[in-house]
Amino acid sequence: MGKCIWMEKDTGYLLGQCGFNFSLSSGTPSDNSIKFCPGCGNEVEVNVVAEGNLKVIRAYRTGGWSFKYEDSTKFIGVNHPRGGKQSVCEISNGLNQNIFGEEIARFLNYC
Ligand SMILES: [Zn+2]
Repeated sequence: MGKCIWMEKDTGYLLGQCGFNFSLSSGTPSDNSIKFCPGCGNEVEVNVVAEGNLKVIRAYRTGGWSFKYEDSTKFIGVNHPRGGKQSVCEISNGLNQNIFGEEIARFLNYC
């Protein structure tokens, strides 16, 4: 049997790898005796690492930073209204890179 990785989006709100959304009023899935995903039936595994990564990205936004893709340089960067600027990554695969760059930056501003 496979596993369904659940990612914590906000307190009490989890998004399953299979697309299933689950809301808990308190605690973790195991605290609530949830062993299997109601969406796909696979065993639930909470991805703490992904949650940690999202917290880092959100911390930038909380501080006023926003993510932007620069068409001219093919870089995704993070910018602050006070003038701060930092490169995050370069989109250089040559495959619809403007589309991927725009969408990745949009995701980083939303997730
Ligand atoms: Zn699932």
